[in-house]
Amino acid sequence: MKDSIKKELKNLRANSLERTLNETQRTSNVRTTIKNKDALVLCSNDYLGLLNHPRLKSAAIEATKKYGTGSGASRLITGTTPLHTELEKKLKVFTKFNDVLLFNSGYQAKIGAIPALINASGKGTEIFSDKLNHASIIDACILSRTKVWRYQHSDLSILEDKLKESNSKNKLIITESVFSMDGDLASLNDIQFLSKKYNALLYIDDAHGFGVLGKNGRGVIEELNLIKKNTILMATFGKALGSYGAFIAGDSDIIKLLTNKARAFIFSTSLPPAICAATSQALDIIQEEPKRRKRLHSNANLLRDILNTAGLDTLNTSTHIIPVLTGSAKLALQISNALLEDGVFVQAIRPPTVRAGTSRLRLTVSSELSTEDILSAADLIIEKFKELSCAK
Ligand SMILES: *Cc1c(COP(=O)(O)O)cnc(C)c1O
Repeated sequence: MKDSIKKELKNLRANSLERTLNETQRTSNVRTTIKNKDALVLCSNDYLGLLNHPRLKSAAIEATKKYGTGSGASRLITGTTPLHTELEKKLKVFTKFNDVLLFNSGYQAKIGAIPALINASGKGTEIFSDKLNHASIIDACILSRTKVWRYQHSDLSILEDKLKESNSKNKLIITESVFSMDGDLASLNDIQFLSKKYNALLYIDDAHGFGVLGKNGRGVIEELNLIKKNTILMATFGKALGSYGAFIAGDSDIIKLLTNKARAFIFSTSLPPAICAATSQALDIIQEEPKRRKRLHSNANLLRDILNTAGLDTLNTSTHIIPVLTGSAKLALQISNALLEDGVFVQAIRPPTVRAGTSRLRLTVSSELSTEDILSAADLIIEKFKELSCAK
C-alpha cells in the first residue's frame, strides 16, 4: 500500500499533475497574497464581489450571536432553524419553482439528489449526461448504479440518438448550464425540447449561472426563458452569492422525495445559521444591484475580445469563465507560474479536471475588476503565452 502511494505521487509529479495547497490572504475583493506575491485574482468564483460584503458579514455575525456557530444536527433532527426555513421560502419566491430544499454544498446536492431520484424508480431510470459535466455529476451517476449514457459535449443529435436507443421508460437528462471549465452555455431550450419529446426529466446544474445570468440574476432559467415543468434546478451559494451551500428547486413531490431519500441531505449536519443569513442577504443584493451583473459581463466581454483578437484559443466561451487552451499540462503550469511572478493569479487546469491534451488556464472574471485590471492582465497573459509556447 505504502509503495503504491509513493508511486502514484511520483507519477503525478512526473506528469505535471501534482496539486498543492497554497495559503492565500485576500487583501481586497480582487487581490490576494499567495506564495509571498501580491497578485490580481483571475480565478475566483466570487463573480459579484459579495464574499466580503458588509451586509453578508453582519448578517452572519448577528445570526451567530443569536443561534450559535453550528446547527447542531441534520435538518430532520434539530438542524432546521428559522433561518433555514426563511432562506428556502425566499428561494422559492426567487426561482418561482414550487418548492426548494437546501443542501450543504453543490457536491452534496448532486450525490444526494441524483441517486435518490434514480432509486425512486427501482433503478429503472437511465441517465443521459453531457461528457463535460462536473465531477460531482459523474460521482452522482456512479452512486446511482444505473445505466449512464454519456453524450459528446453539447451534441444534441447524439443526445437524441441515445434517447431514442434507450428502452427505459424513465429518463433523466443532466447538464450544466454554464460549463465550469469551458464557459460555454448549454442549448437548454433545445434540450428541454428533447426532454419533452422523450418524456425525460431534466436536471440543470446552474452553479455558474445562478446570480449571474438573467435580468434579475435568476440564472439560466431566466436567461433562456426555460419552462419549469419536468425540470429540476440546482445551484450553489459558493460562487456568485459569495457564501456557501446549495439548493435544489423542483415540484413539490420531488422536494418531498429528496427530503426523505437524499442520503447526503439526511445524514449530514445542516448548514450553519450564519451561512443561511449571509446567503439570504446575497439573494437580496443580487436583485437590488443589477449593476454588478452588468459590470461582470462587460469585464468578461472585454477580456474575451482582447484574448481572441490576440489569437489565443478561448474555446466556445461566451461567459465570465474564459478558458485559454494550452494543450499540455506543463505549459499551463509554466504560464500560470510566470503570471504569478508578475502579479496575476490564474489557475492551470489539468487532467483529471479536463481531458488529457486540453489543459488550459481558466480565467474567471469579477464585477469588481477595473478596466485597467483587465487590460493589464490581458497584456501579461498574451505576453507569457507567446513567450512560453514558443520556448517549448
Ligand atoms: C462548483 C460546482 C459544484 C460544486 O458546488 P459546491 O457548492 O462548491 O460544492 C457543482 N457543480 C458545478 C458545475 C460546479 O462548478
